[in-house]
Amino acid sequence: MATAVLLPQSTPSDYHRIISQTLKIPKDTKIAIPVGILACQRDPLLRSLKTFVVSTTVSQPADPPAKKPAKKAVIAPTLPSDPLLEVILHDTVIFPEGGGQPTDTGIINTTLDGKTWEVIQAKRHGGHAVHYVRVKDGDLPGALLAFSPGESVEVALGQEGFTRRYDHMSMHTSQHLLSALLETRLELPTLSWSLTSYPSPCYVEIPRGMSPDEIISIQNEANRLVFEGRRVHVEVEELNPVQEKPVPTLDSGRTVGRGLPDDYTGGVKRVVVIDGVDRNPYVYSISSSVEHNSLNRPTSCCGTHLPSLHNLQIFLLPHTDALARSTTTNARLYFLTGPRLIDHLTSSHNLVTSTASILSCGAPQLPDRVKQVVDERRKVEKRLNDVETELARVVAEDLIKEYRPQTANCNVYKKHIHRVDDSSNVLGFLSAVSITFTNLVAPDAKQYLIVLTSSPSSQTTSSTTVVLLFGSSDRHVKKIGDGLKSKLGVKGGGKGLKWSGKYVGVWRDKENVLLDDVIQSGEL
Ligand SMILES: [Zn+2]
Repeated sequence: MATAVLLPQSTPSDYHRIISQTLKIPKDTKIAIPVGILACQRDPLLRSLKTFVVSTTVSQPADPPAKKPAKKAVIAPTLPSDPLLEVILHDTVIFPEGGGQPTDTGIINTTLDGKTWEVIQAKRHGGHAVHYVRVKDGDLPGALLAFSPGESVEVALGQEGFTRRYDHMSMHTSQHLLSALLETRLELPTLSWSLTSYPSPCYVEIPRGMSPDEIISIQNEANRLVFEGRRVHVEVEELNPVQEKPVPTLDSGRTVGRGLPDDYTGGVKRVVVIDGVDRNPYVYSISSSVEHNSLNRPTSCCGTHLPSLHNLQIFLLPHTDALARSTTTNARLYFLTGPRLIDHLTSSHNLVTSTASILSCGAPQLPDRVKQVVDERRKVEKRLNDVETELARVVAEDLIKEYRPQTANCNVYKKHIHRVDDSSNVLGFLSAVSITFTNLVAPDAKQYLIVLTSSPSSQTTSSTTVVLLFGSSDRHVKKIGDGLKSKLGVKGGGKGLKWSGKYVGVWRDKENVLLDDVIQSGEL
């Protein structure tokens, strides 16, 4: 029997392992702990922390970008119009964006005035995490005082911030697992990945598409490791830039992942290890993703990771999307886990059950029932077309019957017919009438000018009445067409012997009278 294993309430003490004798976490609260060994990275389940302000400046808004930025899968936080402070703390539980993982949001409580401040984002500047603190009500002097260097504060994720972080950690740790399996089982390196905005699936970019069998086998393997609850830990040492190899490049010239950011000055190298995911835990098992490539060498990841794979059931969307570039066979594999997987299951279930209820069947019968409805609709459409064609002929023949005897005593036979039709193609129907009429009229027949109008059975101010005008002389057709435009506000136009247009609004008897006036008073 399966037993649910819950995520520990706190991070295990052996999660964060400093593997260098010389690397120490700075204790002096006047200096900032560098990105790489921040509390959020040492203890990813920690939600709040008492610490001290190291520096504070007023944030200068960046110039708007010269050109519109490319559409991103990750939505950047919208900055408020309030002034912002850029605050560096001695330590923090708020993760600054980096390595593919978006920024955390959170709050800071200042001890001096007992106020709570909103942290709308955190960014890495060089080796430091900078908190962007919102100054409400414009009290900058008060804010600067509360955030004076040396002041004590409590920095926290808050419930909303932790929910956001938990989702990010779930997706990021799953991506490491997924990339490691793709690399070691299928020799598919991860070229990049995207931690998209909730609740969209995230994806890894790989050099080729995958077969359904490959996708299932990787998903099964991942979930076996999840079921075992493999542990995750982080190994940290000083960064030796000389030892860092350049990022590998594929034959296509595409780099595999990214190296350390050029402006990173934290001086710390972090490796994320999923226990025994591979034969050689140190060399292979690592993490492998964008910010660190996966080609058989440990490289760094600055993200926050869950201390185990518990509850990280992975669902791979059962297809890969080819990237539409002629020079590449690269593809995206989408995945879901944790809160996003639950969200996806809930919304998919709701879609299926509401559709099944509309069609009065159970979910398993949906595909057959939908096919049946679509087939029936096709048949009905065909039947409707046949009937409309026949109806058009009847209307045209009635016109001909009336037209013939009248030709003896007038120059031009003029006629308006108004109809009520709820057809999906009213103009097509009216055109069919005109074509049949024209075909039935003898070539040497007397002149004629006919206007057909058709309104829907239920009209509102936005309803459309279709107008079709046809005759035996293009001069007559143009003249009456112009009259319909100016007297009735019909929008339309035509060429030769046909003119068509639309009238928007409720078509009443008044419009019929106006139209008949236009036809009868026009000297043809
Ligand atoms: Zn990573």
